[in-house]
Amino acid sequence: MSEQIEKKRKANFALLNREVIKPGYCVSCGGCEAVCPIFVISMEQLKPKLVGGCISCGACVDVCLRYKQRIEQPEHQEESIGEILEIYIGRSKIDEISSKSQNGGIVTTLLTNAMKKGKIDSAIVTSHVNDLLNPVPTLALSEFEILKAARSKYTLNPLLTKLTAIKLSHKKKVAVVGLPCHTETLNNAIQMKNLGADFRVKYKIGLFCMSSYSPVSFRDIISSNLGLSAETLTKTDCARGKFFFVYPDGVTDIKIKECKEAKALGCAFCKDFSAEFADISIGNIGVDDDSNIIIIRTEAGKELFEVALKENLLDVEKIDESNWAEKLAPAIKLSSSKKRGAKPLLPIESQ
Ligand SMILES: Cc1cc2nc3c(=O)[nH]c(=O)nc-3n(C[C@H](O)[C@H](O)[C@H](O)COP(=O)(O)OP(=O)(O)OC[C@H]3O[C@@H](n4cnc5c(N)ncnc54)[C@H](O)[C@@H]3O)c2cc1C
Ligand code: SF4
Ligand code: SF4
Ligand code: SF4
Repeated sequence: MSEQIEKKRKANFALLNREVIKPGYCVSCGGCEAVCPIFVISMEQLKPKLVGGCISCGACVDVCLRYKQRIEQPEHQEESIGEILEIYIGRSKIDEISSKSQNGGIVTTLLTNAMKKGKIDSAIVTSHVNDLLNPVPTLALSEFEILKAARSKYTLNPLLTKLTAIKLSHKKKVAVVGLPCHTETLNNAIQMKNLGADFRVKYKIGLFCMSSYSPVSFRDIISSNLGLSAETLTKTDCARGKFFFVYPDGVTDIKIKECKEAKALGCAFCKDFSAEFADISIGNIGVDDDSNIIIIRTEAGKELFEVALKENLLDVEKIDESNWAEKLAPAIKLSSSKKRGAKPLLPIESQ
């Protein structure tokens, strides 16, 4: 048997299970479920499970960001925050969006406008059922559905399971909003030309991210430490070292370090804070609570942003290149500390 066939034969779910899932590297992104051509992977309780006979095609292994990182051991420059074409700071001008969004509502404004202008025909976003700690990946087909998905959900989210829905619904102009891990796995699917992701996904919007949390442990913390239930939460936020839980009758907070037991295990290995694989990355660090910092990384990201700018929907300031270092300093500080603090991903050869 040639070396290549031997390699192919071994690339199966058992390999993914042995090298990624069992050792706790998995981040529940859902990419492996989406790319399996015979639908034998199912995300159950946020972990991929084999639910049928594997034909060893290797797609789930090839798409997985953690498997690829273990093989390739990419170098991370501590002070780098990825490609930058342009930087803006600001917020949406649409009141209905601002009042329902996490920060400045830039993500929701870019998406709803792109839908209105025919730049996209759908968007993979994250809605919720019952409460905000229960994120639900959604293929939004209308501006209404996009708006319904506004606001951050801080618990693990198998977003990429929705990739199959774009193929089944024959959508060809899709925007995907995801965390850094989602955008990296999505990039792998694009490179593999799996599910037509290479021509269907027009825009990748990445959110800044320090960590996600296990929904079960996070609920426990809210109920045991704060005596609150998640059902009536209207917003969760994470800023200045604290989590804020917003209810109709007030706000409660808890230090992030008091929630460290609930941090998702797979996040401990993450070195991407600013969604370096996205076309446009959006966060809030270093700016007012009702604003966003926006890093445009690619021509696609620039196009998406400029469509909204042209419609006069954004109250934003373009940051001159000479001021990038100053405006990005808080983001770079967090990004560097994430890179420094990440646990090493052991190379597979050395196992
Ligand atoms: C888990 C998590 C951690 C974050 N950590 C940081 C941080 O440390 N520093 C920082 O500056 N910013 C962080 N952010 C980003 C920040 O919370 C806002 O999402 C960002 O500023 C965009 O604001 P907005 O008002 O434009 O968003 P909105 O217009 O309200 O839109 C939010 C979008 O995010 C999507 N979304 C919500 N939850 C998730 C999820 N779990 N996975 C994928 N997509 C989701 C929704 O579908 C929606 O489209 C984090 C976001 C999340 C979800
Ligand atoms: S059939 Fe392919 S994608 Fe599905 S589990 Fe097996 S190796 Fe993975
Ligand atoms: S990280 Fe994503 S692609 Fe890899 S095993 Fe977990 S869910 Fe699957
Ligand atoms: S810390 Fe990294 S792995 Fe964890 S949710 Fe955020 S981007 Fe994904």
